[in-house]
Amino acid sequence: MKQIYLDHAATTAVDREVMQAMTPYFTERFGNASSLHTLGRDANQALTRAREEVADAIGANTEEIIFTSGGTESDNLALRGVLREHKGHIITSSIEHPAILKTCQYLERIGCDVTYLPVDADGLVDPGDVESAITRETRLISVMHANNEIGTIQPVNEIGAIAADHEIPFHTDAVQSFGKTELDVRKMNIDMLSLSSHKIYGPKGVGALYVREGLKINPLMYGGSHEMSIRAGTENIPGIVGFAKAASLACERFKSDTAHLMKLRDMLINGMFDSIDDVFLNGHQAKRLPNNANLRFMFVEGEAMLIHLDLKGIAASTGSACSSASLDPSHVLLALGIPPEDIHGSIRFTLGRENTEKEIKYVLEVFPTIIEKLRAISPLTRR
Ligand SMILES: *Cc1c(COP(=O)(O)O)cnc(C)c1O
Repeated sequence: MKQIYLDHAATTAVDREVMQAMTPYFTERFGNASSLHTLGRDANQALTRAREEVADAIGANTEEIIFTSGGTESDNLALRGVLREHKGHIITSSIEHPAILKTCQYLERIGCDVTYLPVDADGLVDPGDVESAITRETRLISVMHANNEIGTIQPVNEIGAIAADHEIPFHTDAVQSFGKTELDVRKMNIDMLSLSSHKIYGPKGVGALYVREGLKINPLMYGGSHEMSIRAGTENIPGIVGFAKAASLACERFKSDTAHLMKLRDMLINGMFDSIDDVFLNGHQAKRLPNNANLRFMFVEGEAMLIHLDLKGIAASTGSACSSASLDPSHVLLALGIPPEDIHGSIRFTLGRENTEKEIKYVLEVFPTIIEKLRAISPLTRR
């Protein structure tokens, strides 16, 4: 049975055009971009072109793009790159991806101070809280653009403006928002921004960190002078070429993609509300990613819903792929103030380019029965 894949926040399939663009760079065009011969120059040209494409996609200059191994490395590089030599204070939110939160915990262990800002019931950071948290020791502000679990989009323009006023670098993790919301690092006052290829129909294991010209950061690894001497190691040319192709396709298809995703998302959310009682939307109603529907069903367990959906050929998630192995309630849903016993009834559907109305109709057909069955055997009492 063909799977109905509704877990695009976890990862996406590589687009055919992306695959085609990458393929020659594994075989006949295999050069090392640092070599001076023809094959090396060919690889270096591909690298330059890819850098231009990714820079264009976010309104950056070419030399401001550092290719990395993905979102996790970009987040680490941004935070540790700024904080390592100047221990000090960092401001972030309590709903960041683990790539930020765990890095902050590490920075605390080596002597930095971290402020984890609260969010409101919709998952929004108050820019006023950012401003109040600033001290003389603040070296960096890092607040994600869109949340991977609930899809809430943060007021990064305002936060960026506050950071600029105080001359503090502002980093944002845009892994989930890239290709799904407008993104312009100049207009939005962003000094560093993390991207990942495999969330936008590119290959896994490649991403980028945008670093505004003039902002000095330390490398995580030492070696050759690749990537403006900030990220040593022979460049992953096929991956980078694929990532750049995926980024330019995302820009090309931005309007039609987002319209398609919003239509399916709203169809899914409204359909659930129409056919099932005691269901809530997690995250902000309007300020949310066009492809995210995170729903909370009372008196049921997320894992049980996932298994029943899987039996019907539908792939969804209870939250983040990164913590699904643990049964701890989601730190994001906890931060929204949802009681732990209700959090477990949450399920995340994240839609993609290739999903169809027919697929959503099928989900809406089978899901109410699943909920009915699970509620019938649920030990949780109805209010
Ligand atoms: C997936 C994700 C990451 C990690 O990116 P990888 O390329 O998988 O390392 C970081 N931040 C957010 C918000 C993500 O969704």
